[in-house]
Amino acid sequence: MVKFRVEIEKNACQSFGACVELCPQFFKFSDIDNKSTIEGAKKLVKESKVVTETLELNELKCIREAAEACPFKAIHIINLETKENLI
Ligand code: SF4
Repeated sequence: MVKFRVEIEKNACQSFGACVELCPQFFKFSDIDNKSTIEGAKKLVKESKVVTETLELNELKCIREAAEACPFKAIHIINLETKENLI
């Protein structure tokens, strides 16, 4: 079973860039809306805009640090085993 789900709330993201700086192997700026994006993440689209991106993975590596550094709390992490919201 996959251990963690990472979610970017695109409306909350203000392109501040902490996640891109701290965890560039996962987070990039999107060419489309200049907001944070994760390569390979599942995109939820509403009215032709991406509203959330989710990625499930077993190891967080630098993702937790990036999520904690986001001043707009746009990145969430859920532990799928315990159902706990880590951030
Ligand atoms: S740190 Fe937060 S606001 Fe800044 S780009 Fe990343 S998700 Fe967006």
